Amino acid sequence: MMIAPLKDLLNLAVLDKKLLKIFKSEVRPEGSGSKRRKQDERIPLERFGRKYLNVTDLSRQAWCEQQVVYGLELPHIEQLREEVPVVKAGSCLHLARELEVQDIVPIKVESREDSWAVKILNLLSMIQFLQAGERVRELPVFGELEGIFLVGVVDELCYNSKGELELRELKTRGQRTYPSVAQRKSHQLQVNIYKLLFEAMIKGQLNKDTITHHLCLRTEQPFSSEILLHAQKVGFTISTFGDLLDLMLLNLRYAEIPNIDAMKIEYCYQADASLIGTKEVNFEEEWVKSELKHYYSFWRGQREAKGVDIEEAWKCRSCDFADICEWRQSKAEEATQKNQANRSK
Ligand code: SF4
Repeated sequence: MMIAPLKDLLNLAVLDKKLLKIFKSEVRPEGSGSKRRKQDERIPLERFGRKYLNVTDLSRQAWCEQQVVYGLELPHIEQLREEVPVVKAGSCLHLARELEVQDIVPIKVESREDSWAVKILNLLSMIQFLQAGERVRELPVFGELEGIFLVGVVDELCYNSKGELELRELKTRGQRTYPSVAQRKSHQLQVNIYKLLFEAMIKGQLNKDTITHHLCLRTEQPFSSEILLHAQKVGFTISTFGDLLDLMLLNLRYAEIPNIDAMKIEYCYQADASLIGTKEVNFEEEWVKSELKHYYSFWRGQREAKGVDIEEAWKCRSCDFADICEWRQSKAEEATQKNQANRSK
């Protein structure tokens, strides 16, 4: 049995793509986006109030960094996107998979510490399943990598026929085809980061101060009655967030769970949930670390956000921000000037 914050389980009204388009044409940031960004001296992590990054922020950044920035500057559009039928279909497939191996119980949370307690209690239950050789889905992973705190959710961990611990990531597709190389690169980055985070956790490299410092959580904070009741039901006696952190760190340190030996991405067709195919992913630590360094340099304010290169302009065709994107506009102007210069030679 897994728990989830009540708000995540509410069935929101489905909005269609048409509504998204109307909304998009109505929303315009005041003045030039890049001008406003330059006037704001805070680094992006501070400007967007981010205490940590989600692993999906980084994999989306690998697709188009500028798109991530627009998503944060115009969260209304981003939220509407989650309600688009094609995106909802992907979420439903993930939920259906999760329900195959575990029940989900809604739980009321009253503080940020309660929300993190949900993650940690789920993690503690899943460690027990992994120790018993069973499969787990939606496993929370988190920790500091190269100075920034990252949070993610692994779709599935299980033991394969060779007895290896295998990570499986589910990606749903609107067409019955594999995604482009560019999209696969962002998926590859995502699962490589999951492996780094998971293995640091089971090697006991997580640290209480790091967690509370990055996430600004209070160790002395007591839990809501629902969290306390659930913790008791699953066999843990805790009263404050600090107790729960100690319990988690102890469990992780002595869990004796092996490293992840294999990683696979399963591509499924959204319409009927059939498997398109599976791609194996290699672990490339040096590559991940250099990618992290590059993506972090944006969040740390060491460089401006970048949109897609001209060779990848096809990505803009399916982008919700194409109409307002200054990067796209500047690349189009550059290309026009180049053509004019070539013609006048
Ligand atoms: S229009 Fe193109 S460059 Fe601009 S945010 Fe979208 S994908 Fe990125």
